[in-house]
Amino acid sequence: MNQHAKLRIGYSACPHDCPSTCALEVELLDGKRIGRVHGAKANSYTSGVIRAKVARYADRVHHPERLLKPLVRLASAPDGC
Ligand code: SF4
Repeated sequence: MNQHAKLRIGYSACPHDCPSTCALEVELLDGKRIGRVHGAKANSYTSGVIRAKVARYADRVHHPERLLKPLVRLASAPDGC
């Protein structure tokens, strides 16, 4: 990416079921991809910092093997195979 290009930022909140409800700033690379996720600077709790697990959300969201729909478990054969 061009280092001088202005990065667009989206505003969101951590989707984890956690009472902290951290405010997030998300790098918007284009219409379909996100970059790094940061803690919101304007929020006193996050103050620009977020845990590594959430900061690297793009790795998970855009992983080529990410499941995009629920899978159905097949019943095993009666002989245990
Ligand atoms: S980033 Fe961590 S502490 Fe903050 S809401 Fe998400 S899970 Fe909770």
